[in-house]
Amino acid sequence: MRGVKIQSATVQRERGIVVKEEEIIQRLKRVYAEISLDAIRSNMENMKKNIAASTNMIAVIKTDGYGHGAVPIARELETLDYVYGFAVATAEEACMLRDAGISRPVLTLGYTFPYSYEKMIQKDIRMAVFRYDTLVELSNASRRLAKGGIQKKAKVHIKVDTGMSRIGVRPDGEGLCFVEKAFETDGIEVEGIFTHFARADETDKTAAENQIAVFEQFLAKIKERTGREIPLKHCSNSAGILELPRANMDLVRAGITLYGLWPSSQVRKDIVRLTPALSLYSTIVYVKEIEAGTGVSYGSTFVAEEKMRIATIPIGYGDGYPRGLSGKGFVLVHGQRAPILGRVCMDQFMIDVTHIPEVREGDKVTLIGCDGKDQITMEELGEISGRFNYEFACDIGKRVPRVYRKDGEILCTEE
Ligand SMILES: *Cc1c(COP(=O)(O)O)cnc(C)c1O
Repeated sequence: MRGVKIQSATVQRERGIVVKEEEIIQRLKRVYAEISLDAIRSNMENMKKNIAASTNMIAVIKTDGYGHGAVPIARELETLDYVYGFAVATAEEACMLRDAGISRPVLTLGYTFPYSYEKMIQKDIRMAVFRYDTLVELSNASRRLAKGGIQKKAKVHIKVDTGMSRIGVRPDGEGLCFVEKAFETDGIEVEGIFTHFARADETDKTAAENQIAVFEQFLAKIKERTGREIPLKHCSNSAGILELPRANMDLVRAGITLYGLWPSSQVRKDIVRLTPALSLYSTIVYVKEIEAGTGVSYGSTFVAEEKMRIATIPIGYGDGYPRGLSGKGFVLVHGQRAPILGRVCMDQFMIDVTHIPEVREGDKVTLIGCDGKDQITMEELGEISGRFNYEFACDIGKRVPRVYRKDGEILCTEE
C-alpha cells in the first residue's frame, strides 16, 4: 500500500494552490491508473440492493484493494452506513488502514502471526482464528496489555472450513470444541464466525449450496451445545452476493465485484449492474514508418510484411502490463483498436497504427477502459494473456501512479 495524499483540486484551489487536472495529468503522461470512486460506490450500492435489507457488507480491500488503492476506497466507503467494515489479508494491511484514520472494523481473513497480536488488539482489528495456539497467544497478549493499563479483548471471527480446505476449523465435534474454547478463553471476544466458498462462481451451485448447508448445521450445533449465538455470521463472497441469496447472513464480503470486475465468466451478469472502476492510460512517445521485412521488438517475433506505421508506448511488464499480451493484445487510440506488435518489453511496447493515420506523438492511449464507443476490460485482456482477472488487477505495478476521480474531479495524487 502506498502513502496516499488526498486533496481535492477544489480544496487546493481554496487554499490558493491552483492545481488543474491537466497539470496533474502532465506528470502522469507515461502511465497512470485512474480509479473512479463513483464506480466503486455505485457497485457497492447495486450489490446492496441485491441482498437482504438486514445484511451488511464487508468491503474486501486486501492486496491494496485488488491493486486499486485500499485507503482511498476505504475512505469513500466508510460513509455508507451498511458497510460494517473492511477485510484484508495481513496485519500490515490492517494497520495501514488504521494509520490512515479508518475507524470502522477491519478483519484479517488469513492466519495472523503472533508478533502482531498486541497491536491488533490495541487497534481493534478483528482476526480470523482457527488454531488453538492462536487463542492462547491472544489471551496472553490481552493480559500483557492489561498489565500496561490497556483493558482490551481480542475480537475474533472463527473461520470454518466447509469445503475450501484452506484454513478453518472443521464443522464437526472438534470444531465445536474449538468454539467452546474460544468462548471460554479470557481476553477473547467471539464477534463473528465465517466460511468461504470454493465454487460459488460456477454455473452449477450445488457445491456452494452444500457449503451453506454445512455451515448452517454447524451454527445450529453451536447454539444447541453452548446456548450462545455468535453475533456476526458470514459466508458470501462476490459470486454469492450475485447469485446465492440464501448466503446473505449478517454480513457478506464483497471483493472483485466492488471493483466492477466479475468473479468468473460463468456468473450471471444481468443481476447486479457493475462498472469497472479502473482505467489505465499511457501516451504515444514515438511514431515511425517501417519497411517490409523489418522486425519489431525482441526476437523479431513480428516482421512487417509491408510498409507500416508503428507507435511506441512507454509501459511494459515492469508496470504489470502482461508480457503474455505480446503479439496478441491491443490498445485504444482515437477510439480504435491498435494491435500489439511483437513482444511486450519491460518498459515499452509497439503497436500498429497504420490504419489510424491521425495518430501523433503525445496522443493518449487507453490500455484498459473506454475510448469512444469501444472498451477494453481486464477480463478481455486476462483471457488473451492467459491471466486471471483478479491477478491482472493485483499485478498493476507499484510504478503506476493511481489517480482517483470523484464527482468528475480528480481527487488525489500520490507523492
Ligand atoms: C478474497 C476473499 C473474499 C473476496 O472474494 P471475491 O471473490 O473477490 O469477492 C472473501 N472472503 C475471503 C475469505 C477471501 O479471502
